[in-house]
Amino acid sequence: MGSAESLAGLRVLITAGPTREAIDPVRYISNRSSGKMGFAVARAARDAGARVTLVAGPVNRRTPKDVWRVNVESAEEMLTSVSEYVPETDIFVATAAVADFRPRQVADQKLKKNGETLTLKMVRNPDILATVAAIADGPFTVGFAAETENLARNAREKLISKNLDMIAANKVGRDEAFDKDRNALLVIWNDGEQQLPKQGKLELAHALINCVARRYRESRATRARV
Ligand code: C5P
Repeated sequence: MGSAESLAGLRVLITAGPTREAIDPVRYISNRSSGKMGFAVARAARDAGARVTLVAGPVNRRTPKDVWRVNVESAEEMLTSVSEYVPETDIFVATAAVADFRPRQVADQKLKKNGETLTLKMVRNPDILATVAAIADGPFTVGFAAETENLARNAREKLISKNLDMIAANKVGRDEAFDKDRNALLVIWNDGEQQLPKQGKLELAHALINCVARRYRESRATRARV
């Protein structure tokens, strides 16, 4: 399956999967992200001719052929790894479900069950996508937004507040959950949008990569003119 719009010669950096935030040496907080969409995007970008680096949280998935994979656990590790590759990146696609908070302290020893309740103090994690999008002359940035309501409006707000070039929004809820094989995306950019209909995640990833390639070229052409 080839992508009509080529990314030949371009370097694409992708985050995927959940992050895992340690509580103590044996426990952590995480989420149900499967990494399926991010790994599909990595394959689609590779098929379009890009050199792909995939920074993956803990998921049990095979690394796509010809993709450079870096495994990380926490959001902070993901940011460190992303920061290392960003200077040599043309397009950054953030599909990872990064934990918004992490325990303020990681206990050195396994916590004991002394009381009937346990209170964990949490602190905010860095926003990896917003951090990359804030870099002057940085890569073309693509985010994902999972929304339960007002899909287009909430996603457009996120596009603006995180200063992204593009956002891919998908509806989550009872029938449209994480870890499904089929998905639909509403792709939004500054002055346009495109609905990608419900299809298998790999086909969907190819359609998304086509959109990204087209917008990337348009934005670089504009940048060159100013
Ligand atoms: O704000 P929200 O979590 O809905 O934003 C989702 C987008 O931001 C996704 O592209 C996700 O990968 C990225 N993100 C990130 N770092 C965070 C939180 C979200 O890169 N700490």
